[in-house]
Amino acid sequence: MSRFLVRKVAVLGAGVMGAQIAAHLANVRVPVVLFDLPAKEGPKNGIVSKAVEGLKKLKPAPLAVADNAALIQQANYEEHLELLQDCDLIIEAIAERLDWKLDLYTKIAPHVASHAIVASNTSGLSIGKLAEVLPEVLRPRFCGIHFFNPPRYMYLVELIPAPATQPQVLDQLEAFVTTHLGKGVVRAKDTPNFVANRVGIAGMMATMIEAEKFGLSVDVVDDLTGKKLGRASSGTFRTADVVGLDTLAHVVKTMQDNLHDDPFYATYATPPVLAGLIAQGALGQKSGAGFYKKV
Ligand code: NAD
Repeated sequence: MSRFLVRKVAVLGAGVMGAQIAAHLANVRVPVVLFDLPAKEGPKNGIVSKAVEGLKKLKPAPLAVADNAALIQQANYEEHLELLQDCDLIIEAIAERLDWKLDLYTKIAPHVASHAIVASNTSGLSIGKLAEVLPEVLRPRFCGIHFFNPPRYMYLVELIPAPATQPQVLDQLEAFVTTHLGKGVVRAKDTPNFVANRVGIAGMMATMIEAEKFGLSVDVVDDLTGKKLGRASSGTFRTADVVGLDTLAHVVKTMQDNLHDDPFYATYATPPVLAGLIAQGALGQKSGAGFYKKV
């Protein structure tokens, strides 16, 4: 396998996942250009400050937060696309909407270096469909790279090929993810929600629906599904708040759109309690309200 040198990474999207992925990269001393929408449409607070907050929260704390923060450069798609030319790896982590991702790929494609790998952190949209909008020359170097939340701590990364992805590209990415980022890789097929979310989201939806049916409180359900049961991760509702309720609903929609003929998955509609919170703008931790903190 030829060596793949990652001197700089572009992360597209400075939300829950993008900011944390950028912080993790900076923490292992990889320079990052962190892109988001221009300030008028995008997050109100500086996106780098969000990533730096992520750095500060890391346990153990990085040795020099200030130094690491300096490795993250803020950019937006209107003014700074030329910065992509210096990036060896581009990780897309914008909202879980196929149409928005396709629009962005069309915009960035002319600026991507000829050797760079482009990878999407989608939770489960079709990697093959995402690849279709890319120029033919870029398709062999495109795949899915699915980090788990929080990416600093979660060991698993799914790598998912599109039909045209070169096997060597997956090998190069796996070497980077394991050696530099300290993660473990599972190679997944390009099926709706891949492996982990296919199984995990079905379980979460079933838990929410049953909790509503039996009038169980959020606390009781989290005791039954989380740490009090001896699990390392938090319970169902706390996890939902951390993931983001809108993102969760998008992942459920991927299941509904693509697996409606499968009797096992067909029953997993978006639970009314989840839809109700989203309608109120309560999207979990990122909006300051969700299952745990009400609007
Ligand atoms: P988020 O809602 O926190 O952030 C989404 C980002 O996308 C924001 O920075 C927003 O400004 C940007 N954005 C919105 N519309 C856009 C557009 N039209 N063009 C460009 N940028 C736009 O979302 P997130 O939770 O960080 O999820 C990002 C991706 O990572 C999604 O594909 C999601 O499925 C995936 N993912 C999320 C989690 C999780 O736990 N939240 C875990 C693994 C993977």
